Amino acid sequence: MGKSEAVLFSISWNACIQCGVCIAICPQELPFVSDFDTIAVHTPCAIACMICETICPVSAITSVLRSA
Ligand code: SF4
Repeated sequence: MGKSEAVLFSISWNACIQCGVCIAICPQELPFVSDFDTIAVHTPCAIACMICETICPVSAITSVLRSA
């Protein structure tokens, strides 16, 4: 209790086809977008629903759990 966790996302840029699905499905209220029209990769995500990682059609997204 009291310990929050967040994830950092990483994207394989060679695999990404910039379809925009990860952004479209993201439940974050503020834009959670990278310079390459994918979900943000350097901003810890506290929701950590992992839907983007699941829905990416080319499995380009991976995540690392970290303490926040
Ligand atoms: S869902 Fe996957 S392929 Fe589509 S923009 Fe996001 S990272 Fe790229």
